[in-house]
Amino acid sequence: MTNSTAAELQIDADRLWRDLMELAGITEPERPYTRRSFSAQFLQGRDWLAERYRAAGLSVRIDAGGNLIGRLPGTRDGAPAIMIGSHSDSVPGGGRFDGIAGVVAALEIARTLASGGVSLAHPLEVVDFLAEEPSEFGLSCIGSRAMAGALDASHLALTGPGQETLAAAIERVGGAPGRIDAARRADVHAFLELHIEQGPLLESSRVDVGIVTGIVGIARIEIRLVGEAAHAGTAPMSARRDAAVAAAQVILAVRDLARTMDARGDGYFVATCGVVGILPGASNVVPGEARIVIDARSESAPLMQRFLDEIGPRAADIAQASGVALERFELVSRNPPTACDGALQQVLRESAAQTGCSAMSMASGAGHDAAFVARIAPAAMLFVPCRNGRSHCPEEWTEPSELALGARVLLQAVRRIDGASYGATQRRQP
Ligand SMILES: [Zn+2]
Repeated sequence: MTNSTAAELQIDADRLWRDLMELAGITEPERPYTRRSFSAQFLQGRDWLAERYRAAGLSVRIDAGGNLIGRLPGTRDGAPAIMIGSHSDSVPGGGRFDGIAGVVAALEIARTLASGGVSLAHPLEVVDFLAEEPSEFGLSCIGSRAMAGALDASHLALTGPGQETLAAAIERVGGAPGRIDAARRADVHAFLELHIEQGPLLESSRVDVGIVTGIVGIARIEIRLVGEAAHAGTAPMSARRDAAVAAAQVILAVRDLARTMDARGDGYFVATCGVVGILPGASNVVPGEARIVIDARSESAPLMQRFLDEIGPRAADIAQASGVALERFELVSRNPPTACDGALQQVLRESAAQTGCSAMSMASGAGHDAAFVARIAPAAMLFVPCRNGRSHCPEEWTEPSELALGARVLLQAVRRIDGASYGATQRRQP
Protein backbone atom coordinates (compact mmCIF):
# COMPACT_ATOMS: atom_id res chain seq x y z
CA MET A 1 0.00 0.00 0.00
CA THR A 2 1.17 3.53 -0.66
CA ASN A 3 1.38 6.19 2.04
CA SER A 4 -1.96 7.72 1.16
CA THR A 5 -4.02 8.13 4.34
CA ALA A 6 -7.68 7.46 4.90
CA ALA A 7 -8.33 11.19 5.06
CA GLU A 8 -7.00 11.70 1.54
CA LEU A 9 -9.01 8.86 0.13
CA GLN A 10 -12.74 9.61 0.08
CA ILE A 11 -15.50 7.90 -1.79
CA ASP A 12 -17.59 10.24 -3.94
CA ALA A 13 -21.09 10.04 -2.44
CA ASP A 14 -22.75 11.85 -5.35
CA ARG A 15 -21.13 9.64 -7.96
CA LEU A 16 -22.14 6.55 -5.94
CA TRP A 17 -25.76 7.73 -5.77
CA ARG A 18 -25.90 8.63 -9.47
CA ASP A 19 -24.64 5.15 -10.36
CA LEU A 20 -27.19 3.50 -8.11
CA MET A 21 -30.08 5.42 -9.65
CA GLU A 22 -28.81 4.84 -13.18
CA LEU A 23 -28.53 1.08 -12.72
CA ALA A 24 -31.87 0.98 -10.86
CA GLY A 25 -33.41 2.81 -13.82
CA ILE A 26 -32.63 -0.14 -16.09
CA THR A 27 -35.95 -1.89 -15.45
CA GLU A 28 -38.91 -3.48 -17.16
CA PRO A 29 -40.87 -0.30 -17.98
CA GLU A 30 -44.24 -1.74 -16.95
CA ARG A 31 -43.01 -3.18 -13.67
CA PRO A 32 -40.51 -0.98 -11.85
CA TYR A 33 -38.04 -1.94 -10.52
CA THR A 34 -37.56 -5.27 -12.21
CA ARG A 35 -34.33 -6.68 -13.59
CA ARG A 36 -34.85 -10.44 -13.58
CA SER A 37 -31.76 -12.59 -13.99
CA PHE A 38 -31.09 -13.69 -17.59
CA SER A 39 -33.55 -11.08 -18.97
CA ALA A 40 -32.84 -8.35 -21.54
CA GLN A 41 -32.80 -5.73 -18.76
CA PHE A 42 -30.38 -7.83 -16.74
CA LEU A 43 -27.97 -8.05 -19.68
CA GLN A 44 -28.37 -4.33 -20.32
CA GLY A 45 -27.55 -3.63 -16.66
CA ARG A 46 -24.47 -5.81 -16.91
CA ASP A 47 -23.28 -4.02 -20.05
CA TRP A 48 -23.64 -0.75 -18.15
CA LEU A 49 -21.74 -2.20 -15.20
CA ALA A 50 -18.92 -3.67 -17.31
CA GLU A 51 -18.50 -0.29 -18.97
CA ARG A 52 -18.23 1.38 -15.55
CA TYR A 53 -15.70 -1.25 -14.41
CA ARG A 54 -13.56 -0.56 -17.50
CA ALA A 55 -13.80 3.20 -17.06
CA ALA A 56 -12.55 2.73 -13.49
CA GLY A 57 -9.48 0.91 -14.82
CA LEU A 58 -10.56 -2.61 -13.86
CA SER A 59 -10.02 -5.62 -16.06
CA VAL A 60 -13.37 -7.30 -16.72
CA ARG A 61 -14.33 -10.93 -17.17
CA ILE A 62 -17.28 -13.26 -16.76
CA ASP A 63 -16.33 -16.47 -14.96
CA ALA A 64 -17.60 -19.95 -15.81
CA GLY A 65 -20.52 -19.51 -13.41
CA GLY A 66 -21.67 -16.31 -15.13
CA ASN A 67 -20.41 -13.91 -12.44
CA LEU A 68 -19.30 -10.50 -13.74
CA ILE A 69 -15.93 -9.69 -12.14
CA GLY A 70 -13.84 -6.52 -12.30
CA ARG A 71 -10.29 -6.70 -10.99
CA LEU A 72 -7.56 -4.33 -9.88
CA PRO A 73 -4.12 -5.97 -9.66
CA GLY A 74 -2.29 -6.12 -6.34
CA THR A 75 1.35 -5.20 -5.80
CA ARG A 76 2.37 -8.42 -4.06
CA ASP A 77 3.04 -11.35 -6.39
CA GLY A 78 0.55 -14.19 -6.07
CA ALA A 79 -1.44 -12.58 -3.26
CA PRO A 80 -5.03 -13.90 -2.94
CA ALA A 81 -7.87 -11.52 -3.83
CA ILE A 82 -9.94 -9.33 -1.56
CA MET A 83 -13.47 -9.65 -2.98
CA ILE A 84 -16.41 -7.29 -2.53
CA GLY A 85 -19.80 -7.23 -4.24
CA SER A 86 -23.38 -8.43 -4.36
CA HIS A 87 -25.98 -9.03 -7.11
CA SER A 88 -27.63 -6.92 -9.83
CA ASP A 89 -30.75 -9.04 -10.43
CA SER A 90 -34.01 -8.21 -8.67
CA VAL A 91 -37.27 -9.88 -7.64
CA PRO A 92 -40.35 -9.03 -9.78
CA GLY A 93 -41.50 -5.53 -8.83
CA GLY A 94 -38.54 -5.20 -6.52
CA GLY A 95 -36.69 -2.20 -5.23
CA ARG A 96 -33.73 -0.10 -6.26
CA PHE A 97 -31.34 -1.15 -3.48
CA ASP A 98 -31.49 -4.89 -2.80
CA GLY A 99 -28.29 -6.20 -4.38
CA ILE A 100 -27.18 -3.24 -6.43
CA ALA A 101 -26.38 -1.14 -3.34
CA GLY A 102 -23.53 -3.60 -2.72
CA VAL A 103 -22.57 -3.76 -6.39
CA VAL A 104 -22.26 0.02 -6.90
CA ALA A 105 -20.58 0.46 -3.49
CA ALA A 106 -17.95 -2.09 -4.57
CA LEU A 107 -17.50 -0.26 -7.87
CA GLU A 108 -17.11 3.07 -6.06
CA ILE A 109 -14.48 1.62 -3.72
CA ALA A 110 -12.41 0.23 -6.60
CA ARG A 111 -12.78 3.52 -8.47
CA THR A 112 -11.72 5.53 -5.41
CA LEU A 113 -8.61 3.41 -4.90
CA ALA A 114 -7.69 3.50 -8.58
CA SER A 115 -8.27 7.22 -9.08
CA GLY A 116 -6.50 7.96 -5.79
CA GLY A 117 -3.43 6.14 -7.03
CA VAL A 118 -3.60 3.69 -4.14
CA SER A 119 -2.48 0.17 -4.94
CA LEU A 120 -3.36 -2.63 -2.55
CA ALA A 121 -0.99 -5.51 -1.88
CA HIS A 122 -3.85 -7.90 -2.73
CA PRO A 123 -5.81 -7.82 -5.96
CA LEU A 124 -9.27 -6.30 -5.45
CA GLU A 125 -12.21 -7.97 -7.19
CA VAL A 126 -15.67 -6.44 -7.47
CA VAL A 127 -18.31 -9.04 -8.24
CA ASP A 128 -21.86 -9.06 -9.55
CA PHE A 129 -23.00 -12.58 -8.66
CA LEU A 130 -25.34 -14.22 -11.17
CA ALA A 131 -29.01 -14.70 -10.16
CA GLU A 132 -29.06 -14.30 -6.38
CA GLU A 133 -32.85 -14.05 -6.25
CA PRO A 134 -34.93 -17.18 -6.94
CA SER A 135 -34.69 -17.41 -10.74
CA GLU A 136 -37.05 -18.73 -13.42
CA PHE A 137 -35.11 -21.99 -13.02
CA GLY A 138 -36.32 -22.38 -9.43
CA LEU A 139 -32.83 -21.81 -8.03
CA SER A 140 -31.24 -18.86 -6.22
CA CYS A 141 -27.60 -17.82 -5.66
CA ILE A 142 -26.56 -19.46 -8.94
CA GLY A 143 -23.27 -17.58 -9.40
CA SER A 144 -22.12 -17.80 -5.79
CA ARG A 145 -22.99 -21.51 -5.74
CA ALA A 146 -20.74 -21.94 -8.76
CA MET A 147 -17.96 -19.98 -7.08
CA ALA A 148 -18.26 -22.27 -4.04
CA GLY A 149 -18.21 -25.39 -6.22
CA ALA A 150 -21.82 -26.12 -5.26
CA LEU A 151 -23.52 -25.87 -8.67
CA ASP A 152 -23.83 -29.41 -9.96
CA ALA A 153 -25.07 -31.19 -13.09
CA SER A 154 -28.62 -31.57 -11.72
CA HIS A 155 -28.80 -27.79 -11.23
CA LEU A 156 -27.47 -27.15 -14.74
CA ALA A 157 -30.19 -29.43 -16.16
CA LEU A 158 -33.03 -27.40 -14.58
CA THR A 159 -35.30 -25.83 -17.18
CA GLY A 160 -36.87 -22.39 -17.34
CA PRO A 161 -39.04 -20.45 -19.81
CA GLY A 162 -39.12 -21.99 -23.30
CA GLN A 163 -37.52 -25.19 -21.91
CA GLU A 164 -34.13 -23.45 -21.88
CA THR A 165 -31.76 -25.30 -19.56
CA LEU A 166 -29.88 -23.43 -16.85
CA ALA A 167 -26.66 -24.48 -18.61
CA ALA A 168 -27.82 -22.77 -21.82
CA ALA A 169 -28.89 -19.67 -19.89
CA ILE A 170 -25.51 -19.42 -18.14
CA GLU A 171 -23.83 -19.72 -21.53
CA ARG A 172 -26.12 -17.01 -22.90
CA VAL A 173 -24.90 -14.54 -20.25
CA GLY A 174 -21.25 -15.32 -21.00
CA GLY A 175 -20.52 -18.17 -18.58
CA ALA A 176 -19.07 -21.58 -19.41
CA PRO A 177 -21.27 -24.35 -17.95
CA GLY A 178 -19.19 -27.01 -19.70
CA ARG A 179 -16.31 -26.24 -17.37
CA ILE A 180 -18.31 -25.06 -14.37
CA ASP A 181 -15.58 -26.30 -11.99
CA ALA A 182 -13.39 -23.44 -13.24
CA ALA A 183 -15.67 -21.02 -11.38
CA ARG A 184 -14.63 -22.51 -8.04
CA ARG A 185 -12.17 -20.24 -6.24
CA ALA A 186 -9.37 -21.12 -3.84
CA ASP A 187 -7.66 -17.73 -3.98
CA VAL A 188 -10.00 -15.44 -2.03
CA HIS A 189 -8.37 -13.76 0.97
CA ALA A 190 -11.65 -12.29 2.27
CA PHE A 191 -15.14 -11.49 0.99
CA LEU A 192 -17.33 -8.59 2.14
CA GLU A 193 -20.88 -7.85 0.98
CA LEU A 194 -22.66 -4.57 1.66
CA HIS A 195 -26.46 -4.98 1.54
CA ILE A 196 -29.56 -3.15 2.71
CA GLU A 197 -30.86 -4.61 5.96
CA GLN A 198 -34.33 -5.46 4.54
CA GLY A 199 -35.62 -5.16 8.11
CA PRO A 200 -36.37 -2.37 10.61
CA LEU A 201 -33.69 -2.79 13.31
CA LEU A 202 -31.07 -0.24 12.22
CA GLU A 203 -33.65 2.45 11.56
CA SER A 204 -35.53 1.90 14.82
CA SER A 205 -32.28 1.73 16.81
CA ARG A 206 -30.87 4.79 15.00
CA VAL A 207 -27.67 2.92 14.24
CA ASP A 208 -25.66 3.58 11.06
CA VAL A 209 -24.50 0.11 10.09
CA GLY A 210 -25.19 -3.52 11.00
CA ILE A 211 -22.42 -6.08 11.32
CA VAL A 212 -23.88 -9.43 10.40
CA THR A 213 -23.09 -12.25 12.81
CA GLY A 214 -24.60 -14.97 10.67
CA ILE A 215 -27.01 -15.78 7.88
CA VAL A 216 -29.97 -17.90 8.91
CA GLY A 217 -30.45 -21.51 8.01
CA ILE A 218 -33.92 -22.31 6.66
CA ALA A 219 -36.10 -25.38 7.35
CA ARG A 220 -39.37 -26.03 5.53
CA ILE A 221 -41.94 -28.45 6.92
CA GLU A 222 -45.04 -29.60 5.10
CA ILE A 223 -48.06 -30.66 7.15
CA ARG A 224 -51.27 -32.34 5.97
CA LEU A 225 -54.24 -32.66 8.29
CA VAL A 226 -57.18 -34.85 7.28
CA GLY A 227 -60.56 -34.60 8.99
CA GLU A 228 -63.99 -35.16 7.52
CA ALA A 229 -65.83 -32.91 5.09
CA ALA A 230 -69.47 -32.41 6.12
CA HIS A 231 -72.50 -30.21 5.54
CA ALA A 232 -71.92 -26.82 7.20
CA GLY A 233 -75.59 -26.57 8.14
CA THR A 234 -76.44 -30.04 9.40
CA ALA A 235 -73.23 -31.35 11.01
CA PRO A 236 -73.52 -30.55 14.75
CA MET A 237 -70.56 -28.70 16.32
CA SER A 238 -69.89 -31.58 18.71
CA ALA A 239 -69.48 -34.12 15.89
CA ARG A 240 -67.16 -32.23 13.57
CA ARG A 241 -63.64 -33.17 12.50
CA ASP A 242 -62.73 -29.78 11.05
CA ALA A 243 -59.25 -29.75 9.47
CA ALA A 244 -59.17 -25.93 9.23
CA VAL A 245 -59.70 -25.54 12.97
CA ALA A 246 -56.80 -27.91 13.63
CA ALA A 247 -54.66 -26.02 11.08
CA ALA A 248 -55.42 -22.72 12.80
CA GLN A 249 -54.21 -24.17 16.10
CA VAL A 250 -51.04 -25.49 14.48
CA ILE A 251 -50.35 -22.01 13.05
CA LEU A 252 -50.73 -20.49 16.52
CA ALA A 253 -48.49 -23.17 18.01
CA VAL A 254 -45.80 -22.37 15.41
CA ARG A 255 -46.00 -18.70 16.33
CA ASP A 256 -45.89 -19.37 20.08
CA LEU A 257 -42.98 -21.78 19.83
CA ALA A 258 -41.04 -19.37 17.55
CA ARG A 259 -41.54 -16.56 20.06
CA THR A 260 -40.26 -18.80 22.84
CA MET A 261 -37.20 -19.77 20.78
CA ASP A 262 -36.38 -16.17 19.89
CA ALA A 263 -36.83 -15.03 23.50
CA ARG A 264 -34.26 -17.56 24.76
CA GLY A 265 -31.45 -15.22 23.68
CA ASP A 266 -29.52 -18.05 22.00
CA GLY A 267 -29.88 -16.51 18.55
CA TYR A 268 -32.31 -15.10 16.03
CA PHE A 269 -35.37 -17.28 15.34
CA VAL A 270 -38.48 -16.72 13.19
CA ALA A 271 -41.14 -19.03 11.77
CA THR A 272 -43.97 -18.43 9.32
CA CYS A 273 -46.89 -20.41 7.92
CA GLY A 274 -47.00 -18.74 4.50
CA VAL A 275 -48.82 -21.53 2.71
CA VAL A 276 -52.19 -22.55 4.10
CA GLY A 277 -54.67 -24.47 1.95
CA ILE A 278 -58.14 -25.69 2.89
CA LEU A 279 -60.15 -28.34 0.99
CA PRO A 280 -62.67 -28.46 -0.46
CA GLY A 281 -62.78 -24.68 0.04
CA ALA A 282 -66.53 -24.04 -0.05
CA SER A 283 -68.46 -21.79 2.32
CA ASN A 284 -71.07 -24.43 3.06
CA VAL A 285 -68.69 -27.34 3.67
CA VAL A 286 -66.83 -28.18 6.89
CA PRO A 287 -63.15 -28.37 5.76
CA GLY A 288 -62.01 -31.96 5.35
CA GLU A 289 -58.36 -31.31 4.64
CA ALA A 290 -55.69 -28.68 5.34
CA ARG A 291 -52.13 -28.21 4.14
CA ILE A 292 -49.56 -25.93 5.82
CA VAL A 293 -45.96 -25.14 4.91
CA ILE A 294 -43.82 -23.85 7.79
CA ASP A 295 -40.74 -21.75 6.98
CA ALA A 296 -38.48 -21.63 10.07
CA ARG A 297 -35.23 -19.66 10.15
CA SER A 298 -32.44 -19.38 12.67
CA GLU A 299 -28.79 -18.44 12.86
CA SER A 300 -28.41 -21.20 15.46
CA ALA A 301 -28.47 -24.86 14.39
CA PRO A 302 -29.21 -26.13 17.95
CA LEU A 303 -32.13 -23.69 18.24
CA MET A 304 -33.52 -24.94 14.92
CA GLN A 305 -33.17 -28.54 16.09
CA ARG A 306 -35.05 -27.73 19.25
CA PHE A 307 -37.89 -26.19 17.25
CA LEU A 308 -38.04 -29.20 14.93
CA ASP A 309 -38.05 -31.57 17.92
CA GLU A 310 -40.94 -29.75 19.59
CA ILE A 311 -43.25 -28.73 16.75
CA GLY A 312 -43.93 -32.32 15.60
CA PRO A 313 -45.36 -33.60 18.90
CA ARG A 314 -47.37 -30.36 19.29
CA ALA A 315 -48.95 -30.79 15.87
CA ALA A 316 -49.75 -34.41 16.70
CA ASP A 317 -51.40 -33.40 20.00
CA ILE A 318 -53.48 -30.73 18.26
CA ALA A 319 -54.58 -33.19 15.59
CA GLN A 320 -55.59 -35.77 18.14
CA ALA A 321 -57.56 -33.29 20.24
CA SER A 322 -59.38 -32.12 17.09
CA GLY A 323 -60.24 -35.61 15.88
CA VAL A 324 -58.13 -35.03 12.80
CA ALA A 325 -55.36 -37.23 11.37
CA LEU A 326 -51.86 -35.83 10.96
CA GLU A 327 -51.33 -37.58 7.63
CA ARG A 328 -48.09 -35.87 6.74
CA PHE A 329 -45.43 -34.09 8.75
CA GLU A 330 -42.32 -33.84 6.63
CA LEU A 331 -39.12 -31.83 6.73
CA VAL A 332 -38.95 -31.06 3.01
CA SER A 333 -35.76 -28.98 3.06
CA ARG A 334 -33.17 -27.76 5.51
CA ASN A 335 -30.15 -25.52 4.90
CA PRO A 336 -27.64 -24.95 7.69
CA PRO A 337 -26.99 -21.44 9.03
CA THR A 338 -23.75 -19.68 8.05
CA ALA A 339 -21.68 -17.84 10.64
CA CYS A 340 -19.87 -14.75 9.39
CA ASP A 341 -16.10 -14.78 9.92
CA GLY A 342 -15.20 -13.46 13.38
CA ALA A 343 -11.99 -11.67 12.34
CA LEU A 344 -13.83 -9.91 9.49
CA GLN A 345 -16.63 -8.85 11.85
CA GLN A 346 -13.94 -7.31 14.05
CA VAL A 347 -12.43 -5.52 11.02
CA LEU A 348 -15.88 -4.11 10.19
CA ARG A 349 -16.39 -3.00 13.81
CA GLU A 350 -13.03 -1.19 13.85
CA SER A 351 -13.68 0.32 10.43
CA ALA A 352 -17.06 1.66 11.58
CA ALA A 353 -15.44 3.21 14.66
CA GLN A 354 -12.68 4.75 12.56
CA THR A 355 -15.26 6.16 10.14
CA GLY A 356 -17.10 7.67 13.10
CA CYS A 357 -20.34 5.76 12.71
CA SER A 358 -22.35 3.64 15.08
CA ALA A 359 -22.65 -0.11 14.57
CA MET A 360 -24.62 -3.01 15.98
CA SER A 361 -24.34 -6.76 15.53
CA MET A 362 -27.31 -8.54 14.01
CA ALA A 363 -28.31 -11.74 12.21
CA SER A 364 -29.48 -11.79 8.62
CA GLY A 365 -32.94 -13.33 8.30
CA ALA A 366 -32.61 -13.38 4.51
CA GLY A 367 -30.29 -15.54 2.42
CA HIS A 368 -27.34 -13.93 0.61
CA ASP A 369 -24.48 -14.82 -1.76
CA ALA A 370 -22.12 -14.42 1.21
CA ALA A 371 -23.48 -17.69 2.64
CA PHE A 372 -22.07 -19.59 -0.35
CA VAL A 373 -18.83 -17.60 -0.57
CA ALA A 374 -18.29 -18.43 3.13
CA ARG A 375 -17.71 -22.05 2.06
CA ILE A 376 -14.49 -21.10 0.26
CA ALA A 377 -13.25 -17.97 2.05
CA PRO A 378 -13.67 -15.87 5.20
CA ALA A 379 -16.87 -13.87 4.53
CA ALA A 380 -18.84 -11.17 6.34
CA MET A 381 -21.62 -8.67 5.62
CA LEU A 382 -22.33 -5.03 6.35
CA PHE A 383 -25.94 -3.83 6.48
CA VAL A 384 -27.14 -0.28 5.80
CA PRO A 385 -30.59 0.90 6.96
CA CYS A 386 -33.69 0.75 4.80
CA ARG A 387 -36.77 2.87 5.39
CA ASN A 388 -39.51 1.20 7.43
CA GLY A 389 -37.68 -2.07 6.93
CA ARG A 390 -39.39 -2.49 3.57
CA SER A 391 -37.77 -4.49 0.78
CA HIS A 392 -38.71 -6.48 -2.33
CA CYS A 393 -41.12 -3.68 -3.22
CA PRO A 394 -40.87 -0.44 -5.26
CA GLU A 395 -40.92 1.61 -2.01
CA GLU A 396 -37.57 0.16 -0.89
CA TRP A 397 -35.38 3.13 0.13
CA THR A 398 -32.03 4.00 1.70
CA GLU A 399 -30.88 7.59 2.09
CA PRO A 400 -27.88 8.68 -0.02
CA SER A 401 -25.97 9.55 3.16
CA GLU A 402 -26.68 6.10 4.65
CA LEU A 403 -25.39 4.34 1.57
CA ALA A 404 -22.30 6.57 1.43
CA LEU A 405 -21.52 5.86 5.07
CA GLY A 406 -21.72 2.12 4.44
CA ALA A 407 -19.38 2.46 1.46
CA ARG A 408 -16.90 4.43 3.58
CA VAL A 409 -16.88 1.70 6.22
CA LEU A 410 -16.39 -0.93 3.53
CA LEU A 411 -13.48 0.98 1.96
CA GLN A 412 -11.86 1.28 5.36
CA ALA A 413 -12.38 -2.46 5.92
CA VAL A 414 -10.79 -3.32 2.57
CA ARG A 415 -7.69 -1.30 3.49
CA ARG A 416 -7.48 -2.95 6.91
CA ILE A 417 -7.80 -6.42 5.40
CA ASP A 418 -5.04 -5.51 2.96
CA GLY A 419 -2.79 -4.58 5.89
CA ALA A 420 -0.49 -7.01 7.62
CA SER A 421 -2.37 -7.31 10.91
CA TYR A 422 -5.49 -8.93 9.41
CA GLY A 423 -3.35 -11.41 7.51
CA ALA A 424 -1.49 -12.31 10.69
CA THR A 425 -4.78 -12.88 12.51
CA GLN A 426 -5.96 -15.14 9.70
CA ARG A 427 -2.76 -17.14 9.74
CA ARG A 428 -3.05 -17.70 13.48
CA GLN A 429 -6.48 -19.26 13.05
CA PRO A 430 -6.48 -23.04 12.50
ZN1 LIG B 1 -30.14 -9.17 -2.10
